[in-house]
Amino acid sequence: MFDTPELAAFRAQVRAFVRAELPDDVRATVRAGRQLAREQYERWHARLAARGYLVPHWPVEAGGQGWGAAQRLVFDEEMCTNDAPELNSITFDMIGPVLIRYGDAAQKAAFLPAIAAGTQWWCQGYSEPNAGSDLASLKTRAERRGDRYVVNGSKIWTSGAQYADWMFCLVRTDAEAKAQEGISFLLIDMKTPGITVRPIRGIHGWEVFNEVFLDDVAVPAANLVGQENRGWTVAKSLLEFERLKLARVGENKRRMARAREIGMRATADGATLFDQSWFRKRFAALEVRLLALEANAARFVERAAHGEPVGAEVSMLKLRGSQLIQLWEQLAVDALGAAALAFDPAALHGDGGADALGLPELAATASSRRFLSRGYTIAGGSSEIQHNIIAKQVLGL
Ligand SMILES: Cc1cc2nc3c(=O)[nH]c(=O)nc-3n(C[C@H](O)[C@H](O)[C@H](O)COP(=O)(O)OP(=O)(O)OC[C@H]3O[C@@H](n4cnc5c(N)ncnc54)[C@H](O)[C@@H]3O)c2cc1C
Repeated sequence: MFDTPELAAFRAQVRAFVRAELPDDVRATVRAGRQLAREQYERWHARLAARGYLVPHWPVEAGGQGWGAAQRLVFDEEMCTNDAPELNSITFDMIGPVLIRYGDAAQKAAFLPAIAAGTQWWCQGYSEPNAGSDLASLKTRAERRGDRYVVNGSKIWTSGAQYADWMFCLVRTDAEAKAQEGISFLLIDMKTPGITVRPIRGIHGWEVFNEVFLDDVAVPAANLVGQENRGWTVAKSLLEFERLKLARVGENKRRMARAREIGMRATADGATLFDQSWFRKRFAALEVRLLALEANAARFVERAAHGEPVGAEVSMLKLRGSQLIQLWEQLAVDALGAAALAFDPAALHGDGGADALGLPELAATASSRRFLSRGYTIAGGSSEIQHNIIAKQVLGL
């Protein structure tokens, strides 16, 4: 929508790359809505890294390409609509940029090259059983003993912890200080003794989340990012890096394409779903919402391009983008009808086969995808929290 001639040329370049380089089995797995193996991600990471496309939004001096917001949105859109997997935002968009901004020289040297090569995986240890939206009430303790911290507590909903090499973690280092002032930001090697990872299988059948228990985990003091008790500032900056991407325009387009595919398949009497008014109306209504989302995202991209702050109203992108994804997934389930009810968790594994995209295959994972999409309105700040931000900071209510 916001393509200038330069961006259109860039888009063509990215599209050619992803169509030529994305491994067939990875594409098939993504198209079939199945869970990818770490090995599949790593093969794709290697190809992206070789082309300079794995961390292109990082500054050039840190190993990136210094891309701005518009290039990133175009890139994400082309990746999504050509069935490339969503990359691990926690690794590439969160901890990488945090270390670039707040890490000391030793931390940058130790971690950035491996992250940029796509070989080191991270997870985010923020949430706890009683600290989610109200994150500042977290209780996991880190006690300084000589040249190390000793960490005790537990984290929950830690995405990808079962595959992660490292975790960046918020810990309480001063129990007496005001909630946000006694928190520190630590980098923890997941192989350290005392760490137990327990996967949580979701209603969608995917093992996305984990509980992470930390019992007397010794962490070198050199792994503290920024100053002790000043971790809240570092923690908050993660959100800043990601705010525009949270519109998820590309992810929505991917879902629209899938809904269109389903709608075009012949039904029993030879007509397509697009011949039925209920489907046509719902599809059109969602497409219009997507156009509006894209237009709004373009406004924020413009602001960012002119060096203006995007402001708290960017919360509307997260709100609308995450809600729309759920509406597309719901449309797919409704369109597939009873076939989508028979959910077999085994259907989530395997590479999907190069042509595993008949209606039965789409139906086998449709319910799972719908449940998975519920997480989008919770992760990264729930819809209610986004409403609060808009009410207080934008509307002044
Ligand atoms: C897909 C997904 C991935 C995640 N990955 C990670 C991860 O990798 N690492 C990590 O640390 N965490 C992760 N989380 C956890 C996520 O950050 C929390 O779920 C989120 O912050 C909400 O916290 P909670 O689940 O404790 O719910 P709560 O904060 O207990 O909220 C419960 C309900 O109350 C509402 N509510 C809470 N406070 C208010 C308020 N002030 N005003 C109005 N309504 C309110 C919420 O909107 C929600 O509906 C992930 C979550 C999801 C869904």
